[in-house]
Amino acid sequence: FPSRLPEVGTTVFTVMSALAAKHQAINLGQGFPDFPCDRELIAEVNAAMLADHNQYPPMAGVAELRHSVAQKISALYGHDYDPETEITITAGGTQGIMTAILSCVSPGDEVVIIEPAYDSYRPSIDLAGGKTIAVSLLAKRDDQSRVYSYAIPWEDLANAIGPKTRLLIINTPHNPTGIVWQASDLLRLAQLVKNTNTLILSDEVYEHMVYDGHVHQSIASHPALAARSFLISSFGKTYHVTGWKVGYVAAPAAMMREFRKVHQFNVFTVNTPMQYGLAKYLKNENHYLSLPSFYQSKRDYFQTGLRATGFKLLPAPATYFQCVNYTDLDIPQSKLSEAEFCTWLTSEIGVAAIPVSAFYAAPVESGVIRFCFAKKEQTLSNALTRLQSL
Ligand code: GLN
Repeated sequence: FPSRLPEVGTTVFTVMSALAAKHQAINLGQGFPDFPCDRELIAEVNAAMLADHNQYPPMAGVAELRHSVAQKISALYGHDYDPETEITITAGGTQGIMTAILSCVSPGDEVVIIEPAYDSYRPSIDLAGGKTIAVSLLAKRDDQSRVYSYAIPWEDLANAIGPKTRLLIINTPHNPTGIVWQASDLLRLAQLVKNTNTLILSDEVYEHMVYDGHVHQSIASHPALAARSFLISSFGKTYHVTGWKVGYVAAPAAMMREFRKVHQFNVFTVNTPMQYGLAKYLKNENHYLSLPSFYQSKRDYFQTGLRATGFKLLPAPATYFQCVNYTDLDIPQSKLSEAEFCTWLTSEIGVAAIPVSAFYAAPVESGVIRFCFAKKEQTLSNALTRLQSL
């Protein structure tokens, strides 16, 4: 049977979660919390259902939620999106990404991505008939610590962007490296795309998870960039409800008009009661403003435990992921590829992780794997005990 995506198998997140379940491993692979969401949020959704908000919402999403999103973006990033014409509620970040790409990329168009990249970008571009041009985050290995750190590849980006570039996809804070774009990076990006027809898709689903005093710089905070960008975010990430699959996309009206043409035949709408619940819950800014300290203490706890292992920690300034290098472990498995190492770690040690090589089309072996620390302290502690036995 002819495949439209011959290179694509099952996403690594599904594969590793299934492997973790099979071996009853502690799942630090796929990014999702193992602790409950706030009961207040559930109460809001229950109230919406009992108030009979159970039929189709408007195609673009429940108006109250679009207004709450517009207010949040305005308060945090100083850009006023019109909730009527510039914000659409999506079935999670991944649908927003796919729909945005389908709405603007035509066959033959080039789309620039920065690897390591979330694994949905490339197949979405393929389905639109676009051509992916991948540049890599610069990996620098520190001679002393022998650990990689990453930087934005400005020169490669400048070379990659040309007359055929329809779209550039950026992701800040970045999954899996935690890189946070600075205000100066946005200025530089604005220079780069000025006088081009390049649109931007800015994947900001980890916007509220930044640590050590870092500040998330949204594409919305830079007017010239906002004028050509799709901004993607996710309530699943922010409110510990990844299974609800609700997120949003904000973009200038002309771009959003095209986005909605695809969205309406893609999912049509997103479930109604969750949207009403989220609309109320989003009005209390403490729910997302408290996230950095909440997750920073989890990260610090996890890092402290990891320092008692032979893994080398990479910086983790944002997101709920910690990358580590395993190649200095004094065990034969330290020579395995990242995918093999993760399979072994899951099946034999009982801790699931994600190979960072899965974030590249042509796997780059840098000996780095990703753990998710969005877990109860007890889960992290159990995982650390196993990792410390290596
Ligand atoms: N973004 C999540 C991660 O990187 C996974 C999302 C998914 O599995 N679709 O783990």
